[in-house]
Amino acid sequence: MNKQYWSRRIADIEPYVPGEQPKDKKYVKLNTNENPYPPSPRVAEAAALVASADLRLYPDPDCTALKQTLASFYGVSPEQVFVGNGSDELLAFSFLAFTDEDTPAVFPDITYSFYPVYGEFFETNCRIVPVKEDFTIPLEELERNDGTVVLTNPNAPTGIGLSLGEVEEILRANPDHAVILDEAYIDFGGESAVELVSRYDNLLVIQTFSKSRSLAGMRIGFAMGNESLIAAMNAVKNSVNSYTLDRMALAVAQAAVEDRNYFLDTCRRIAETREATSEQLRELGFTVLPSQANFVFVTHAAVPAGILFRELRKRGVLVRYFDKPRIDNYLRITIGTDEEMEILISTLRTILEEAL
Ligand code: PMP
Repeated sequence: MNKQYWSRRIADIEPYVPGEQPKDKKYVKLNTNENPYPPSPRVAEAAALVASADLRLYPDPDCTALKQTLASFYGVSPEQVFVGNGSDELLAFSFLAFTDEDTPAVFPDITYSFYPVYGEFFETNCRIVPVKEDFTIPLEELERNDGTVVLTNPNAPTGIGLSLGEVEEILRANPDHAVILDEAYIDFGGESAVELVSRYDNLLVIQTFSKSRSLAGMRIGFAMGNESLIAAMNAVKNSVNSYTLDRMALAVAQAAVEDRNYFLDTCRRIAETREATSEQLRELGFTVLPSQANFVFVTHAAVPAGILFRELRKRGVLVRYFDKPRIDNYLRITIGTDEEMEILISTLRTILEEAL
């Protein structure tokens, strides 16, 4: 392609590739960690109200009402909250805010594959820490206080979680640098570090409405941290786009947070389905990593993951396959409804019977 007009910044970049959103037919869609249940019924009511209200006017650039609602839900102050257009945006902002040539981003080799793209795009140095053979994170490698630590907890795509004690150890060992904790999947069984925000000035916790609150289609993320970190995020935001959340997003986010019981109930159901599915996958001969997320990361002793991925796709079941070093014999399978998981298991059983 002719890149004559492209900036140097993007000429050689290898952008992130999001999971497929297929249009050819209807799949059992277990490839992008969406929630199989709809959002709280209060979300539709809030959306209808906004649609008939004043969309002519800009939204509140400070997102005051949503920040207050999140602050009271999580027990922090509104000044400790930042909201934005999906947690991808918040992660990008946090790379801009807390890393540069002199302050590298420090993250594991097996983690959310957007981090190296941000690193390259924003011309930040990165120190990549290989995870151990069993995919756990070597904590001692993150305790050198030599850069901004970026961690997904529970990790993606493995689902393996860090305990609150381990997170605290990392925070204590890095007093001179921010620690960015991407808690996209925390509500399905992990231990959130939000309660540490008031004690550690270097902690920024980033969460999303895309998974546990069933709102991937609305693009809403939020961060919690001490006021200086939040001010840094605001400095980035107001240098790029002051209105990252529209009126519809602000209203539905608030409605979703207010329905605490619905949120707790759907998270519990997904965790239960995950445990039952893990057991069934083990019976089929899969090794299933211990997951605290709404997905499982699995490998089969006899049939390569790439083949399973293609066979499942042919038969209408979509999962995620990363053709990357160390994980190219694994599948990441999102937890759907019990019915969807039954289809997954019976389709896998057929594929394995044919292959073996
Ligand atoms: N962090 C992790 C670890 C993820 O897997 C995802 C989803 N792809 C995100 C952040 C981004 O989520 P969103 O932008 O939908 O909030």
